[in-house]
Amino acid sequence: MARTKPPTRPAIVSRPCTPCKGSGEVPITVRVGRKHRVVGKQTGICLACFGTGKAPIDKE
Ligand SMILES: [Zn+2]
Repeated sequence: MARTKPPTRPAIVSRPCTPCKGSGEVPITVRVGRKHRVVGKQTGICLACFGTGKAPIDKE
């Protein structure tokens, strides 16, 4: 009586990306000039999740 039980893998939960907190955008400080004077901020695409807002899942 061997029970065939499929190996249970931990459910992959798409958690929000850390750097952008799930928004897919990250604030980028805008600097100009030689002194790199900060003139403001703009939003840029998050390079960690490429704008999806979901943390990249490590593939084994
Ligand atoms: Zn992100």
